[in-house]
Amino acid sequence: PAQRLHGFGTTIFAEMTALAQRTGAINLGQGFPDVDGPNEIVEAAARALRAGPNQYTPARGMPELRRAIAEHQRRFYGIDVDPDRQVQVTVGATEAIAAAIIGLCDPGDAVVTFEPYYDSYAACIAIAGGVRRPVTLRPPDFALDVEALRAAASGGAEGTAPSGVPGGGSPARILLLNSPHNPTGKVFSRAELEQIAAVCREHQLIAICDEVYEHLAFDGEHVPLATLPGMAERTLTISSAGKTFALTGWKVGWATGPADLVDAVAAAKQFLTFSGHGPLQLAVAEALALPDGYYQRAADDLAGKRDRLCAGLEAAGLEVLRPAGTYFATADIRSIGERDGRAFCRELPERAGVVGVPTVVFYDDEEVGLPLVRFAFCKRDEVIDEAAARLARWH
Ligand code: PMP
Ligand code: GLN
Repeated sequence: PAQRLHGFGTTIFAEMTALAQRTGAINLGQGFPDVDGPNEIVEAAARALRAGPNQYTPARGMPELRRAIAEHQRRFYGIDVDPDRQVQVTVGATEAIAAAIIGLCDPGDAVVTFEPYYDSYAACIAIAGGVRRPVTLRPPDFALDVEALRAAASGGAEGTAPSGVPGGGSPARILLLNSPHNPTGKVFSRAELEQIAAVCREHQLIAICDEVYEHLAFDGEHVPLATLPGMAERTLTISSAGKTFALTGWKVGWATGPADLVDAVAAAKQFLTFSGHGPLQLAVAEALALPDGYYQRAADDLAGKRDRLCAGLEAAGLEVLRPAGTYFATADIRSIGERDGRAFCRELPERAGVVGVPTVVFYDDEEVGLPLVRFAFCKRDEVIDEAAARLARWH
């Protein structure tokens, strides 16, 4: 591949799922549910496939879906967006992230993001010619270090991060935030978000917020950064149907925010995919309109799975860094006398018949991430129990 993609290799998710398939191990690596989302929504998609639209959809997205997204933002957060000018539908949150970065980041621009970060962030920043400037979240609690954030935003940080990523110099232009946070399961608190918002305002940062786990905050409340004072006009909010409706293969996502930021996403998106899948967009419009009870049950169900996996990992002797949201729990393997999560995850399928993801792949600061392993709990209870039993037996 081109130089700008050197070092990115194959994504960890494809690698770990292939490893699970090769070894027959239980896949707690890639985050996807093993039971599909609501049957009525799948049926709605099937109907829409038969009835169409089966030709190109409008580049901004089907009007029905844009209206449903605007209504969702109003219903859950009291955010007002104009479905025609302030919503862009994308092919998953992945495309929204790519289009946002390509559309907003000029070569040389610094993008501040918290590490560990979702793997596509670094690649998209590199594709745009930007410079990533990580702010480290450290175990066991992954608390916000606001001074480190301020230093990264102002460019005043020492020139180079521990990983060798160039840092210091010019003030940053963009902050890329993910809450609830993959891979740690952290839900940024309102107090932390207020501090982040203050830094954005001080340094005139554009905030890009990846909120794909917005409905999967079990402890504490998901607060969109866009709802804080002075943030609506500088925040692009990204989400998708995948996690909320347990339909990760559908790849229907969106970006909402001020028209100028959404226009930038649209400018890039038109040359990436132009448009997305009409029938699935119509079905997701129906999904977004499901009653509050659906959202509550989905979160309660996953919170139960979170508890189940955490108890299982603890019973296997692992120290668990209990997540407040998302699909993922993190274990610190130093508690069982191990230290290298990469080696541990490579051997785990053979030794225990379980696949996890080494959190270090999401860190530039290798030392911080090395002993951490991420396990997905978006699985049937019996699968979680069997994985936990295998881990307990092996060790
Ligand atoms: N952001 C984060 C933090 C994720 O975990 C994921 C994986 N679902 C995505 C973005 C990508 O979302 P999508 O599948 O909608 O492209
Ligand atoms: N978001 C999912 C995870 O973190 C995987 C997405 C993907 O496979 N690219 O596991």
